[in-house]
Amino acid sequence: MSSLQAPRGTFDVLPADAARRAVLETHARRILGAAGYGRIETPTYEATELFARGVGEATDIVQKEMYSFDDGGGRSMTLRPEGTAPVCRAYIEHGMHKQPQPVKLWYLSSFFRAEAPQKGRYRQFWQVGAEAIGAAGPETDAELIILMADLYRAAGVRDLHLRLSSLGTAETRREYREELAAYLHAHEDGLSPEVISRIDLNPMRAFDADDRRTQETMRSAPILLDRLAPEDAEHFERVKALLDEAGLTYQLDPALVRGLDYYARTLWEFTSGALGAQSAVGGGGRYDGLIEQLGGPPTPASGWAAGVERMLLAAGEQPVPTDVVDLFVAIAARDSPQAQDAGFKLANEARRAGLSAQLELAGRGLKGQLKHADRLGARYVAIIGDPMQISLKDMEAGDQTEIAPEAVIPTILRGSRVA
Ligand code: AMP
Repeated sequence: MSSLQAPRGTFDVLPADAARRAVLETHARRILGAAGYGRIETPTYEATELFARGVGEATDIVQKEMYSFDDGGGRSMTLRPEGTAPVCRAYIEHGMHKQPQPVKLWYLSSFFRAEAPQKGRYRQFWQVGAEAIGAAGPETDAELIILMADLYRAAGVRDLHLRLSSLGTAETRREYREELAAYLHAHEDGLSPEVISRIDLNPMRAFDADDRRTQETMRSAPILLDRLAPEDAEHFERVKALLDEAGLTYQLDPALVRGLDYYARTLWEFTSGALGAQSAVGGGGRYDGLIEQLGGPPTPASGWAAGVERMLLAAGEQPVPTDVVDLFVAIAARDSPQAQDAGFKLANEARRAGLSAQLELAGRGLKGQLKHADRLGARYVAIIGDPMQISLKDMEAGDQTEIAPEAVIPTILRGSRVA
């Protein structure tokens, strides 16, 4: 084996995997398209400042997971670690606030994070994401959550759970963070050194800690859900009521924190019991302050991202549609340039007529060609000896007839499927 391999934490998408991904993409396009979301593509890299400002300086992503590089002109660029900040940058840059609101966008793109690789966690991974920008109401959040659940259902994700919370507004959060930081400082002897070192940077992360003693201490910590301002509590009640109405079950998780700083109000995460340690299949939340923070007008917004690899893992084995081969063109007279030309022409014309057609390209003998056609599951094989006379073999019926070259395609179109 060559010593050249895909970089650690990355993987090749081989044709069988690509087929499963294509199915997932079709589901996403159908589900999100039907709800008015338009596809967006942003560049693979952006100015580092976008993520520093957008995702948050204190987050793990910005502190240690970004692939940043000098663009050759002294500007720092970063391979996108997430999709929301780039979509917001595009919203502002293209003046989308002047369009009818909300602007609903979706993407399927790859993202890059310098994380320790393990099953379900990669350094380059794909996400399907949806953002609804310019709508403040709880209906938007509920709609987004329901669409996400619909995507998981279509993808066949097993043992799905929804955890839900609300972070209130930035102001409530600021006050709460002070209260929480004070609580953490008062209980430092019950916290891990890492949590202590982050108290003033990001006290919410203490809820995330793996350390048992810290988890114990956090059980009596003040809870943000109890501190929501009345209008935020009302907003959250309405989100919950809409989900109840849609028959979506969820678990309230007041300790839910996601590794991105821009959230306010509704926050959610989906997990799958079919996954191991990396059980999150996706998450989202409302980020009303982000567009303004990036230099745009004050704009409410909400969105989510679902991990493609995790969805595929959580769905388990799924039937993959196999490619149909309508016609295999075999060359019996391999030494005859006329037979070669006729075969080449027939395969091209068949494709132009909407059939899927393959031509023998590996120099096999006739027996090998028929075997290969069978392996491909070809419906018909055209065997070309004398270029004026073609033997068309129906691989299902097993019979073989001699026909004129121009009769091959009409015969297949009549017999196999109408393209
Ligand atoms: P986040 O952008 O961190 O909210 O992640 C949203 C979803 O993307 C997660 O729930 C995972 O399903 C997926 N995800 C995040 N990071 C990775 C990664 N390093 N490898 C694979 N999937 C990931």
